[in-house]
Amino acid sequence: MHGSMLLRFVLITSAIVLQLASSNVIIQKVEEKVENECNLSENLINEIRGYKNVVLKITDQILNGKFKGEVHKSLQTFTDKFGSRMAGSDSLEKSIDYMEALLKNEGLENVHTEEAKVPHWIRGYESATLVLPRKAKIGLLGLGTSVGTPQGGIIADVVAVRTFDELRKLPDSKVKGKIVVFAPEWEGYGATSNYRKSGASEASKKGAIAALIRSATPFSIGSPHTGSQTYDQGVRKIPAACITVEDAEMIWRMYNEGETVQIHLEMDDYNLEQVTSRNTVSELQGSKSPNKSVVILSGHLDSWDVGVGAMDDGGGAFISWKAVKFLKDMGLRPKRTIRSILWTAEEYGYYGAKAYEREHKKNEAEEFNFLIESDTGTFDPVGLAFTGNKEAECIFREILSLMIPLNATQFDTPASAPDLSVWINRGFPGASLLNKNDKYFWFHHTQGDSMLVEDPGSLDRGVALFASTAYIIADLSIDIPKVIKN
Ligand SMILES: [Zn+2]
Repeated sequence: MHGSMLLRFVLITSAIVLQLASSNVIIQKVEEKVENECNLSENLINEIRGYKNVVLKITDQILNGKFKGEVHKSLQTFTDKFGSRMAGSDSLEKSIDYMEALLKNEGLENVHTEEAKVPHWIRGYESATLVLPRKAKIGLLGLGTSVGTPQGGIIADVVAVRTFDELRKLPDSKVKGKIVVFAPEWEGYGATSNYRKSGASEASKKGAIAALIRSATPFSIGSPHTGSQTYDQGVRKIPAACITVEDAEMIWRMYNEGETVQIHLEMDDYNLEQVTSRNTVSELQGSKSPNKSVVILSGHLDSWDVGVGAMDDGGGAFISWKAVKFLKDMGLRPKRTIRSILWTAEEYGYYGAKAYEREHKKNEAEEFNFLIESDTGTFDPVGLAFTGNKEAECIFREILSLMIPLNATQFDTPASAPDLSVWINRGFPGASLLNKNDKYFWFHHTQGDSMLVEDPGSLDRGVALFASTAYIIADLSIDIPKVIKN
């Protein structure tokens, strides 16, 4: 994931935990309120509850039957074969070719790709050395779209701050020609990753010549975390990189103790023209209405160039298409189509999803019924997060209550779905995987994003939850209600 949605999810989750800890009465009241606001007909409630045995069947076959462990095995083959898959890279395009062939081979329907223009940034040689007050290597990773330094690098004094406010209050003369080190405290991904996103622009506005930013993670064992950044219009583009939490904190301390801190920074990173990539689409076509009210299951296939993108977002992509494949193999064909979309170039800001939105805009209200995404890890699932209107929520809660065999009935709102936000923010109902991802940001955008993070049993439960939910929504007698804003 790239956006700030996980922050809200974390805040809401902790609010619920607090309530749980302080008073059961509050929880009861919240539940009663929801119950009272729902006016689903007895018929609809009975219809939804009628899918109980379908959930049992799907769960049993995936957790105990021939599909057991298949998602993990298949994801492992994929990540071992292609490694990292950064937008603009040959590796990503080859992995898309491979997926298109694999999806056809696996018997999925209407398999094809749809084009999207994506950024093409090259990470060159990168190095940072603390020169003063003592010599030491600094762990860093340049940020996607960052420009490089002149050849041989730059040597400059450091100004270290915790916040943008602190930087803005400094006289320009104090920042001009310096390297700004941002050492924000961890306040959740959304707040802290803002420094990654805008650090270079803010530093440049004050006349700085480079920005080094604390990695966006609550925990570190010396790994820098990469990610995307953007230059505000009109600012001079200066090199931007994330450094380890350890180094950011140490430099901040040295600076505040009055030391002269000097860094030699060399980055040979550069941007090329955008290239054409592709979203990868496959379906289980609906028995009654194959071309409208489609249910989407999705994750993104691109990753950063460090690690192998097994967690971000190989797991999410693979539970999405495998859910469709398993339903087909089980002979469970719903009335409406379930479509898996493996997005491209999410990491630079949803380039694949935005291109898909533009291409499908004309009939989007008829085309899309419900959108589901996994991009916050595929650890053990606990439920689904939802965004949509009240009526849709009531139907969704009823469906979610059937996920008892998976121990995944937790409801949360809003959904944390970066790619799908292009639709969900305009009123389309959607959901995202809720999972035990409290360690997600430990690995996020680092060399540590590997298959070691992925557990076969958790992937099985995640894919069973996706398959069950998508099947019920695609098979119900009614569409999920929505009010679309443009
Ligand atoms: Zn992601």
